Amino acid sequence: MICNNLSVNDCGHLTFAGMDTVDLAKKYGTPLMLLDEGKIREKMSIYREAMKKYFTDDSMPLYASKALSFKYIYKIAKSENIGIDCVSAGEIYTAVQAGFPMEKAYFHGNSKTEDEIRFAIENNVGHFVCDSIEEVSVVDEIARSMGVVQKVLLRITPGIDPHTHKKISTGSVDSKFGVAIETGQAYELVEKTLALANIQLDGYHCHIGSQIFEYDPFCDAAKIMIKFIADTNKMFGFTAKTLNLGGGMGVRYTEADPEIDYKANIKGIADVISQLCAEYGLDMPRILMEPGRSIVADSGLTLYTAGYLKEITGLKNYISIDGGMTDNPRFTLYQSPYTVLLANRMNEEYDYKCTIAGRCCESGDIIQEDVLLPRPQRNDTIAVLTTGAYNYAMSSHYNKVPKPCVVMIHNKEDFVVIKRETYADMIANEV
Ligand SMILES: *Cc1c(COP(=O)(O)O)cnc(C)c1O
Repeated sequence: MICNNLSVNDCGHLTFAGMDTVDLAKKYGTPLMLLDEGKIREKMSIYREAMKKYFTDDSMPLYASKALSFKYIYKIAKSENIGIDCVSAGEIYTAVQAGFPMEKAYFHGNSKTEDEIRFAIENNVGHFVCDSIEEVSVVDEIARSMGVVQKVLLRITPGIDPHTHKKISTGSVDSKFGVAIETGQAYELVEKTLALANIQLDGYHCHIGSQIFEYDPFCDAAKIMIKFIADTNKMFGFTAKTLNLGGGMGVRYTEADPEIDYKANIKGIADVISQLCAEYGLDMPRILMEPGRSIVADSGLTLYTAGYLKEITGLKNYISIDGGMTDNPRFTLYQSPYTVLLANRMNEEYDYKCTIAGRCCESGDIIQEDVLLPRPQRNDTIAVLTTGAYNYAMSSHYNKVPKPCVVMIHNKEDFVVIKRETYADMIANEV
């Protein structure tokens, strides 16, 4: 199996975090998202311990909560003693409601509104990650009006060519995020930021992309960023205390994806950084990383109930399900690969090719194309693996389909962390 929290029990049912998924589908109804708290904690602690060990003692991961934002996960992050990355006032609000210590929150985004900036300062968000000179000036003004000095990291575009590393698409010079070194504008940004009275510049941030399997691209980014720290030190006498390398480490969606040793990757990046710091005569900065997908993706799976089998003679077979792009839009958006299993008949022959068709009135509403399953029947339980990241977080009410129930499993106990939406919930704001 692609993750060690999956197995098959004596009834031939898929188990997840030690629990029978078919039983859970019956108990809570479908579509149902299951989460494995042990796996979430394990991933957070791998990052936390490896970063402490190989970088500086105060280095830490920030959970990129856009991957899956709800109250309970901020409580887990708090108890695992790691930081968080928030990208909206909505995520900040959720974290505050969960009692998260907001000095360990980093506020991201390329389009923070003035209201959001004020809201974040009111809620004592530790750092802003500012995306442009105009934005950092607005933060300065608002901070002044509120009588505070706001700590800031600047988002720098390292200019890593997305063609050398596929799947990397946010670190290039023409990205909508950050300010480029290549054009010289990043240096200008640092100089202007240092002159702002209500901004305390702490260091730099970069984020090169997502679902990256090798650690070379992170080393390439680190090289460019350490040189940038050395250059801006020479130019402005400013020593960046913090370097945030962003998120992006990959996860296994199918057997075709490699297994990733996160700890070894972190060590590899640390080796490169310490060598460079020695060359430039710098102390190693505090390193932050922002894993989202690699914390929650394989900590989650989605269960559906099979509807109707449509066999188009000589062409294609479709099995319909009771969910679809409303709870998982990733195939529709990017043709993302997923592993699909027939949870109630795991030991039968996986020799029937079919496409998992969502329930929305949209031909593109597919969860996965041409997978092999035992020939599915009505009321079978279909499991889609590795759905913890960017599934519920991207869910919608298209076709007025309520959002699914999310159940957490911890120490063989299951409990609801997000209730299934009702029809009444969906029209609550309608007048
Ligand atoms: C999306 C994002 C992340 C998380 O990326 P993953 O691929 O989920 O690890 C981290 N930092 C920033 C700035 C992001 O935009």
